[in-house]
Amino acid sequence: FAPWNDPDQKPLIQFRNVTKRFGDFTAIDKLTIDIYAKEFFALLGPSGCGKTTLMRMLAGFETPTEGDILLDGKNIVPVPPNKRPVNMMFQSYALFPHLTVAQNIAFGLERSNMPKDKVAARVDEMLKLVQLQKFGGRKPHQISGGQRQRVALARSLAKAPKLLLLDEPLGALDKKLRGETQFELMEIQEKTGTTFVIVTHDQEEAMTVASRIAVMDHGRMVQVDTPDRIYELPNSVYVADFIGDVNLIEGNAASHHKDGKVEIHWAEGAPPIVGTPMVPVANGTRCTFGIRPEKVHITKKLPEGKANIVRGKIVDIAYLGNISTYHVALPTGEIIKAQASNNRRIERRRFTWDDEVWLWWSETAGVVLTG
Ligand code: ATP
Repeated sequence: FAPWNDPDQKPLIQFRNVTKRFGDFTAIDKLTIDIYAKEFFALLGPSGCGKTTLMRMLAGFETPTEGDILLDGKNIVPVPPNKRPVNMMFQSYALFPHLTVAQNIAFGLERSNMPKDKVAARVDEMLKLVQLQKFGGRKPHQISGGQRQRVALARSLAKAPKLLLLDEPLGALDKKLRGETQFELMEIQEKTGTTFVIVTHDQEEAMTVASRIAVMDHGRMVQVDTPDRIYELPNSVYVADFIGDVNLIEGNAASHHKDGKVEIHWAEGAPPIVGTPMVPVANGTRCTFGIRPEKVHITKKLPEGKANIVRGKIVDIAYLGNISTYHVALPTGEIIKAQASNNRRIERRRFTWDDEVWLWWSETAGVVLTG
């Protein structure tokens, strides 16, 4: 399901050259982006990059300084928050402690003057959606944190908004529960067909739940793409470094191969390395070679017939259970991280501290970046 690639699909939300300034500080800078119906869209970026400001403009709590925000083709900037088909779920859940789970879910529906029997039916439907049928009569303090999160979700979906904004929705849950809840969230999003926009600090969470991720920096979207493309084809050093772990080696673009790959000279006497340019790189200019640790092979024997080979010494090992990350110091001073699977028995694992090892990677494994 990739509505952003389908010319017949109409976007649900359109930002058109949106700028938001607080005094002379620009929080959102000439932003233009389409978000499609039924998308699970994640906003990712360091603290202060403008994620919350963007969400608040969608909800109607902030007004753009310039530009328009369209929903189904209509400008919603003048529409007050309670008149928009948009709801926002906060990390704190903000459940009423004195009301039962069912009353919490019913609250917004009753205020919109829905007839009582319809409210009851909708509450039942919502309890079923989040699998809390048996918990309708409990108060928030009588259920677990994960269940409270689901009540909050049910409450924010009760009025069937077109767009649900989720600000760090799983921030209060521990890691294991968070993982399970991510899948529930995806399931509920799919079942209801509601467009979700999520803000999270957790890159893995964004990669798991989102159909597309926007990586933000200083009020701008640096890259908007599917999780796998953001991870494997980052368009800048900023994105490569922000999402996941990456080895970055600075050098000079020396020449271009016929297939477009770029050869980089990076250290006196060291063999050149080759990577695929993500942006145009002119010969002779500074650039950065990036490669993910899982794409760097580590061996004790000199790899025969391989292109990108360096030698070094293991100076650190991070044991992560299924894999280990080896930090290998090169004679040039760089540290390259290489990952290897721990699928062998402990006594047959091959690498330890101070081992002299060879690292190599294929010509298609690394990217050439600028910026
Ligand atoms: P975090 O991840 O820490 O929540 P964020 O990416 O959500 O950060 P925003 O809350 O959108 O960032 O803030 C973006 C920038 O705008 C910050 O530098 C913030 O200080 C500034 N800002 C936000 N709201 C206001 C305001 N009402 N007045 C002045 N500056 C503001």
